[in-house]
Amino acid sequence: MRVVMVGPPGAGKGTQAKLLNERFGVPHVSTGDILRDAQRAGTPLGLEVQRFLEEGRLVPDKVVIGIVGERLKDPDCRPGYILDGFPRTLAQAQALDELMANRGERLDAAVFIVVPQQELVRRLSGRRVCRACGGMYHVLFDPPTIPGTCGRCGGELYQREDDREDTIRHRLEIYACETGPVVEHYRAAGLLREADGVGTREEVFGRIAAGVQ
Ligand code: AMP
Repeated sequence: MRVVMVGPPGAGKGTQAKLLNERFGVPHVSTGDILRDAQRAGTPLGLEVQRFLEEGRLVPDKVVIGIVGERLKDPDCRPGYILDGFPRTLAQAQALDELMANRGERLDAAVFIVVPQQELVRRLSGRRVCRACGGMYHVLFDPPTIPGTCGRCGGELYQREDDREDTIRHRLEIYACETGPVVEHYRAAGLLREADGVGTREEVFGRIAAGVQ
């Protein structure tokens, strides 16, 4: 299975990509996770992208295309992969088409998770992430038992710099301009699978799984 997850920040791409990974056993490749890991580890890549991440701006295409190209060379990606957060611009989508063609691969579906804007802001501003294991919580929908502490590993929960309300609005504007054309690219190719992203994670997953099989 080779799938890309498209949709605005906060639509649930990461959550649904993890569920697809559990169901279909192919790796979940999140460019946001790779970039945040690099930032945490203070690698040269992490230092290069730090400002972009903090301000909710898109990292240059060349950088993310390079990251994805390298990650897909790993043996676990041979049977397939779920790309989450990539492609986010038309140039990235075209680069992925070329990369896949060179690998002799075909995309099965572009899953487009649709969620109203007001709901996105509510979801993102309440999101909390564990510094240690990356576990996700929400102050309203999925609060940790002990406030500020990860129930899985005891790590400290924090709010991503880019999940603050002013940055969220900025990210949504960027999404509308830059990622809108990606959706149209996949629609034109007949690969777009739209799924209503409102509901429990299981309900949303049911809709997505039905569309990609
Ligand atoms: P995400 O976790 O997918 O919301 O990504 C968090 C941040 O990482 C984004 O706001 C961007 O700064 C950066 N990022 C992740 N994926 C990409 C991408 N495909 N292109 C450019 N920037 C990206």
